[in-house]
Amino acid sequence: MPSGQASLGPKWSQSEVAFLVLPSTGTGPGQAAVSASLERAAARWDNHAEDVGTPKFRFDPSSAPLRNAVRDGVNIVVLRTDRWCPGTARDEEEGCYDARRQAITHLYLNPISSRIDEADLEVNGVNPAWLGSDGAVNEGALDALLVHELGHVLGLDHSCGVLNTERTSAGEGIQTCDSTVARASVMYPNPLEAGRELKLHPSHDALALLSKRYLGRADGIGTAWGWILVAIGVVSLLCLGMICFHRRTASFKAKNH
Ligand SMILES: [Zn+2]
Repeated sequence: MPSGQASLGPKWSQSEVAFLVLPSTGTGPGQAAVSASLERAAARWDNHAEDVGTPKFRFDPSSAPLRNAVRDGVNIVVLRTDRWCPGTARDEEEGCYDARRQAITHLYLNPISSRIDEADLEVNGVNPAWLGSDGAVNEGALDALLVHELGHVLGLDHSCGVLNTERTSAGEGIQTCDSTVARASVMYPNPLEAGRELKLHPSHDALALLSKRYLGRADGIGTAWGWILVAIGVVSLLCLGMICFHRRTASFKAKNH
């Protein structure tokens, strides 16, 4: 893949990405709460899908037996309420996830096309920061978490920090995590950080990156500048034409004087 294309990051080819939403792996909040939140989170990305060229989401609740988050050709969402470990881990010592991570999105790229061809999403129901003190689901928090994870599913990295691999055209890294833009992004690394407003909608920076990646187009501001330049070009051509016309008229008159 050409380096210019690689720097834009991975994307899907298809127009719809369908997930099986599996039953949760233990007791506590279940599949229904996650399914409802996924639908709300997906609608917020789907609202922009046509404008930025991204696929739409579909979620099918399933009673199918548990599958692991591995490349198997099936996109899954699973709420882990028994152990916050990959399904392939045999015991707690064997590579369980960091308890602070509230969800993990796994993307699998096609080795030939480098397009995304599968995604699995695991949600932490063992140490959830998206439950209220009464044990009930905090819908705003769960929605904010899943809007963020669906951004990863579309291929976005974090707005800052170690997972931020987006680079400017000059090859510089982007802002640190205390910058206003990074903090306001739906792709801020910790979507549930205490004291930060929950982001329930895709932010402009995220949509601009997706538009560039999926449509090969600059963001709205860049497009506006493009139109302004086209307009200036047309106006100056008209002006040149009029100057030519006047000059020709003048010279014609001069000749016939
Ligand atoms: Zn993230």
